[in-house]
Amino acid sequence: MRNVSDYMKLHIRTVPDWPHAGVQFRDITPLLQNPKTFRVLMDVFVHRYMDAKLDLVAGIDARGFIVGSVLAYELNLGFVPIRKKGKLPFATVSEPYELEYGSATVEMHTDACKKGDRVLLVDDLIATGGTMMAGKKLLERLGATVVEGAVIVDLPELGGSRLVEATGLPIFKVCQFDGL
Ligand code: AMP
Repeated sequence: MRNVSDYMKLHIRTVPDWPHAGVQFRDITPLLQNPKTFRVLMDVFVHRYMDAKLDLVAGIDARGFIVGSVLAYELNLGFVPIRKKGKLPFATVSEPYELEYGSATVEMHTDACKKGDRVLLVDDLIATGGTMMAGKKLLERLGATVVEGAVIVDLPELGGSRLVEATGLPIFKVCQFDGL
């Protein structure tokens, strides 16, 4: 069989010019829809983190919820959602960050984690790294230690994984695509 990275890539669909001209959207829905590839994907993450002595898995809105919550369940850990602004009902901490066009804010409940918690931060993809950095800052503001960032896809040409790793947070990527 091929290596896992190539196998995953065969099931990720590239949609050109969505949501903007020039963006190659890496669509993971075929990977999730296929029971074999979904299982292989989750097994890769479970294998990596089953002995990591984590306290929590935090997932980023919205595709980070899919992988993050299954992973938390499999590792017998709790799951914490990091949401886009205005979606969480209780008291929140917020972190604004820059997007290619404009800016955005992510939020987390103030009681979502506590000082000293070892947290894994999960999203589907890292591009410029802004979203992952904002999530890391939220968790750290509540005193947690972010042990690693985990994504299905890295877009190394956008430099996000390098940037985040330079701040001391390792990023685990299942596969990568060249280009923007
Ligand atoms: P960034 O903050 O630039 O690293 O962007 C990462 C976030 O935007 C993730 O939550 C992704 O789901 C989404 N994203 C950015 N670029 C893409 C892309 N080319 N394909 C799919 N999702 C993307």
